[in-house]
Amino acid sequence: MESAGKPRITRKSPLKPVIKLCPKCLHVLKRGSKLGGWLIPQDYYCQNCGYRGIVFVERSDEVGEEPKQ
Ligand SMILES: [Zn+2]
Repeated sequence: MESAGKPRITRKSPLKPVIKLCPKCLHVLKRGSKLGGWLIPQDYYCQNCGYRGIVFVERSDEVGEEPKQ
């Protein structure tokens, strides 16, 4: 039930910027295949330690939101 006239803006967005980090050295990962995420799982590689794979550590750069512990 949405009323017209007052648009609602939600803060939560599935497209929020997330930085993908290397699980080994926490260096910023580069995307591997351009087809990743569509035909095949998106793979990433690390220029720092040479890691390559689909596993990464997510880090959100939003300020003010502390991770729950
Ligand atoms: Zn690395």
